[in-house]
Amino acid sequence: MNMMNQMEGLEASILHTYNRYPVVFERGEGVYLYDSEGKKYLDFAAGIAVNALGYHYPGFDEALKEQIDKLMHISNLYYNEPIIDAGARLIMASQMSKAFFTNSGTEAIEGALKAAKKYAYKRDGHAGHEIVAMNHSFHGRSIGALSVTGNAHYREPFEPLMGGVRFADFNDLESVAAQVNDKTCAIICETVQGEGGIYPATPEFLTGLRRLCDEKDICLILDEIQCGMGRTGHYFAWQAYGVKPDIMTCAKALGNGVPVGAFVLNEKYGAGSLEPGDHGTTYGGNPFVCAAVRKVFDIFNKDLIITHVQELTPYLEKRLDELVEKHDNVAGRRGMGFMQGLVIKNVPVGEISKKALEKGLLVITAGADVLRIVPPLVITKNEIDMAVEILGSCLEA
Ligand SMILES: *Cc1c(COP(=O)(O)O)cnc(C)c1O
Repeated sequence: MNMMNQMEGLEASILHTYNRYPVVFERGEGVYLYDSEGKKYLDFAAGIAVNALGYHYPGFDEALKEQIDKLMHISNLYYNEPIIDAGARLIMASQMSKAFFTNSGTEAIEGALKAAKKYAYKRDGHAGHEIVAMNHSFHGRSIGALSVTGNAHYREPFEPLMGGVRFADFNDLESVAAQVNDKTCAIICETVQGEGGIYPATPEFLTGLRRLCDEKDICLILDEIQCGMGRTGHYFAWQAYGVKPDIMTCAKALGNGVPVGAFVLNEKYGAGSLEPGDHGTTYGGNPFVCAAVRKVFDIFNKDLIITHVQELTPYLEKRLDELVEKHDNVAGRRGMGFMQGLVIKNVPVGEISKKALEKGLLVITAGADVLRIVPPLVITKNEIDMAVEILGSCLEA
């Protein structure tokens, strides 16, 4: 079957909620993908910042296969082995206190919001607390996560959403402080805004949020779903700022393609919020996904994946800055580590990503005008050069 027939086949039965790029991928190898007609692509999208180790990283598939042969799923009513290791490694990497594994990013957000609300409920003896979230944020598509997502277009058809959410401007401390009141139980933001257009938090903003939350006993929730797991050259982006959240959310690269997320709490919230009966999930943290999480951490630690990101970031930034210099269509670059955005002007950014695909490079977009570059963390200099060359040719005229 050729790609056109396959695409028609998908659209015949799958709800049309995505305008997909016209390509059917069949397999991956390293940091390359192959479509069903055999064409090869360099992957600088990584399944939206998921495939941190690329495809078939040595040892990863074997660890999954081994677990499949032992035990895929057992209920959270029982203990299992992989979750012990996965939890310990996540706590070690974050230096936080307790983790709860979910099936996705949006569910990690739901859990984080519930934990913040439960803490305030126990403290105050009543419910009715509020949350401050950021304009242009993205936290997911389930109702709770959507309620704190600062994008009117995503929200409006589904209102009324969860009540008690106030929006402030990211990187504007005064704007946040203006939305905080006696009912505020949590402030939630991405450490680096992803979907909104690749905006890293400024150090002043993040330190200011931490101070504000400490003063008023408010839960600081940092969403690390996209920017976490080594992408910025730190396990978690907040580690670059020396600011620690009360709760963080994690997903995407956590399972390197196996669907898993987590919310991770510090000691205060780990001990003082959700209790037996407050929260649960059938699949969350099952042996199969936790075997993936365990192996991801083991590979990161053994093969110094984060050191590699740190070492190559200046080169990636330099090459992208050359594109900014050289092409009138690029207004600037923003980002941290291997989470970079090129601001495109004069042409719709979607045209650039489509052209790149035709030329064998996967890049995605963010916000209205940003070309998002979130490659696997294992790319080499040579692959950066290849990507920059293709991007350069797409940006010409
Ligand atoms: C992708 C993403 C989510 C949602 O994760 P899903 O797994 O798609 O539910 C939430 N927050 C951020 C910052 C994300 O990038």
